[in-house]
Amino acid sequence: MKPTPTSPDALCGRNAKSGVQITCRLMDRKSVLLEGTREGLRFLGELLIAQADVAQDCGFQIEPGGPGARLFSPDSDRGIYIHRVPCDHERDGRRLARREGARQYR
Ligand SMILES: [Zn+2]
Repeated sequence: MKPTPTSPDALCGRNAKSGVQITCRLMDRKSVLLEGTREGLRFLGELLIAQADVAQDCGFQIEPGGPGARLFSPDSDRGIYIHRVPCDHERDGRRLARREGARQYR
């Protein structure tokens, strides 16, 4: 399916072309650091909103060394998985494997 202009895919594509990067890494045993310039943090906020509003698919993932790698600084050692509930893959009150059916930015 072709991404709409407001989809997470389209947002990631525009920001990757602009050179926007964020850092996502474990800060300590309990916290994840999300770090970026003003543009990088705006991208993260817009990505959450885009995933909240996208019509299809409850999950979206980007990660360093994987889909969306250009959006991460070299200091990143973790990716981001955004999951909207209720899950599109929940049936009869049972949630299927969390990452099943997750879309990944290409
Ligand atoms: Zn789901």
